[in-house]
Amino acid sequence: MSMRKNIVAGNWKMNKNLQEGIALAKELNDALKDKPVNCDVIIGTPFIHLASVVEVVDRNRIGVAAQNCADKAAGAYTGEVSAAMVASTGAKYVILGHSERRAYYHETPEILREKVLLALANGLTPIFCIGEVLEERESGKHFEVVKSQIEASLFDLPADDFGKIILAYEPVWAIGTGKTATAAQAQEMHAFIRTTLTDKYGAAVADNTSILYGGSCNAANANELFSNPDVDGGLIGGASLSVDKFMPIIEAF
Ligand code: PEP
Repeated sequence: MSMRKNIVAGNWKMNKNLQEGIALAKELNDALKDKPVNCDVIIGTPFIHLASVVEVVDRNRIGVAAQNCADKAAGAYTGEVSAAMVASTGAKYVILGHSERRAYYHETPEILREKVLLALANGLTPIFCIGEVLEERESGKHFEVVKSQIEASLFDLPADDFGKIILAYEPVWAIGTGKTATAAQAQEMHAFIRTTLTDKYGAAVADNTSILYGGSCNAANANELFSNPDVDGGLIGGASLSVDKFMPIIEAF
């Protein structure tokens, strides 16, 4: 019997100023009050929102995530924010390896490995993103690409540490495009990922790892996606920016 959690996590990306972000977090907190849900709820906010958002939500109901952290512990790295700083706000999670960070900020698997280690060392749970671009899928390389992303950044971890990671499969061609993977495509990849984890860490670790789907997930398709046995929730971009759109995804469980 698997112990893995169902999770719906929002990724606000670079949206909402501080006041708007606090208002959105409060509104979500109110919407969840006295409403039992069947999944963990997380919101991934810009760095500057973290400390304020943590104060306005019931942390037993809503986890707070950063969207990135530095690959260095501390020191002369102007403009960077460390995992320790993120943890000091009360945030419990950090999204790492998002395809936008890989593509626009040149985050390599090696850099991401460092970020994962620092996140774990500071008690943060990484939500680690993987996924292929369209050409890779069209040329049939998607399984290989996703496997190598996982291997390169995560497979040096001992099983105990790997067991703390949440994975998010986000086909890059589905992010922000309105082009969702079909439920069958998502299930096929999630099952492949779980087999990859079983081969490396054994069935117990693999069965307990939550694997989220991300990419144009919304109220209309969440139920079908989440009803797959290996899809344990979603990482939600655009539809996490309003409670009206985010709540029905949470309630899809
Ligand atoms: C994301 O960026 O993690 C994402 C899934 O975005 P969207 O839901 O907007 O496609």
